[in-house]
Amino acid sequence: MLTFNNRTALVTGAGRGIGKAIAETLAKHGVTVICVSKSADSCGATAAAIVAAGGKAKALAVDVADGAAIAQAAEALLKEFPAIDILVNNAGITRDGLLFRMSEADWSDVLATNLTSCFHWTKLIGRPMTRARWGRIVNIASVSGIMGNAGQANYSAAKAGMIGLTKTLAREFAGRSVTVNAVAPGFIKTDMTTEFVNNPEASAKILEVVPLKRFGEAADIANMTAYLCSEEASYITGQVFTVDGGMAM
Ligand code: NAP
Repeated sequence: MLTFNNRTALVTGAGRGIGKAIAETLAKHGVTVICVSKSADSCGATAAAIVAAGGKAKALAVDVADGAAIAQAAEALLKEFPAIDILVNNAGITRDGLLFRMSEADWSDVLATNLTSCFHWTKLIGRPMTRARWGRIVNIASVSGIMGNAGQANYSAAKAGMIGLTKTLAREFAGRSVTVNAVAPGFIKTDMTTEFVNNPEASAKILEVVPLKRFGEAADIANMTAYLCSEEASYITGQVFTVDGGMAM
């Protein structure tokens, strides 16, 4: 069992997949979780499931691609909660295509949702964390941001950007005992990867480069993230943890 001392966390993209697993795992450790997603139904369902299981949660629909919407949400949350100690920047989208066929809208949407959102949330939620001299920030990146991936110029650039942001903020916040780390998932079974996972030919090709020869589960990412958010991880900052079945060795 990890130690959390009744902390409060904000998890973006908590409506489905990896974010939902992270929110539920933190809640099982007694953390109050603010579940953010684009649709009210999806974050509402996660928060309701946490409360039904005896945990504490609040749902909030925010489009993280919209900086003004984040600012409005953060202002209200910081009035409602005495402290938001943990921030997990997990919301993300893909708009895949080879570079010559990629529209500027596909580039900008992916950068805004996956990377610029981290800039806004961290600036707003991170400031009170540094004042409180305790905090945990975990950015959910991707092996695509480490290795690159043909057809994902926008996504790989955003995820590599998250890694650079992680390392810089780890240095900026270290003096205030706020740690900043990244988790880089490989292929995890969620809505984002259904089309590959459910296609026998595509999945066989992917699994050729995964030494553990299986897709990951959202819980695999949630367990690593929960550890990085716990008291026990207080001496770890500026690191990128690949959770990918050995793919990016
Ligand atoms: P998912 O199943 O597609 O879920 C994405 C979540 O992000 C949803 O809750 C969605 O909200 C939310 N979201 C998307 N755009 C948003 C926006 N503009 N504003 C607010 N919320 C938004 O994805 P996933 O597979 O769990 O991925 C989670 C993270 O892990 C992403 O950053 C992804 O890049 C990263 N990752 C995933 C894999 C993988 O194999 N699955 C691998 C590497 C990295 P709604 O529910 O309201 O739609």
